[in-house]
Amino acid sequence: MSKQLARSARKRFGQNFLIDGRVVDAILASITASSSDTIVEIGPGHGAITEGLYASQCDLILIELDRDLVPGLLASFVSQSPERCRLLNKDVLKVDFTRLGSALRIVGNLPYNISTPLLFKLLERGDQIQDIHVMLQKEVVNRIAAAPGESAYGRLGVMIQATAHVESLIDVPPECFAPPPKVNSGVIRIIPDANKRALIESMDTLALLVRQAFSQRRKTLKNNLKNLLNLEDFEILGINPTDRPERLSVGTYVELANYLGRRQGNV
Ligand code: SAM
Repeated sequence: MSKQLARSARKRFGQNFLIDGRVVDAILASITASSSDTIVEIGPGHGAITEGLYASQCDLILIELDRDLVPGLLASFVSQSPERCRLLNKDVLKVDFTRLGSALRIVGNLPYNISTPLLFKLLERGDQIQDIHVMLQKEVVNRIAAAPGESAYGRLGVMIQATAHVESLIDVPPECFAPPPKVNSGVIRIIPDANKRALIESMDTLALLVRQAFSQRRKTLKNNLKNLLNLEDFEILGINPTDRPERLSVGTYVELANYLGRRQGNV
């Protein structure tokens, strides 16, 4: 079976199918789906994770781009229970999540090439999303979950942690997939937090600030932010201008962005 899956896998769709039952069980145990949930599974593929989700009796929305996988998914899930299971044969990046409902639980062993834009798209819709459990490249999991001072701490971690709680859950080696990817993978839980989101006065200003702060990791804040902040600003904010960008907490980046936005009058 795994050889067959490996042969049928399409590289351009980022297809690495899960073949290790223990990993599937661990993912399902971390999600603990129930009949009252609405779960959106992104890239169900041959249904490795879908089966367990479906068995929980939850409402299930499957989003799968590869039309060759559609007949299998229709036969195994949608035709069996059309009242609680539907399939969108679409690119998830083009799906309008506002139409999918509320308190959505998002699940997916994601194609790695779209994982970052997809997470940003999902977090824009954080008000509609209860939680996210996704498999990503382990290196990306590390960046999302990194704490200040760690080498993996940077733009991705700050932007996601500014609006959500994150937790690295499971490490998954290449041999758990067919075909095996070249890198290690990991499952992460992301829970959007409306209170955190409410503290950010302008997402655009935060994005600009963080991009610029980490533009050259080895340089100081004063250097990287010279177009945005002067020494007096640093003093008012109580931030050491000679610190490196990885020293500042997520909360400090939010404070800085709010200060900057107010000063520029775009809040
Ligand atoms: N969930 C299955 C598993 O764990 O075995 C398959 C995971 S495979 C890594 C990624 C899946 O996402 C594939 O089924 C692929 O066809 C699908 N996919 C790739 N790009 C997509 C996109 N832009 N929108 C929706 N699905 C996509």
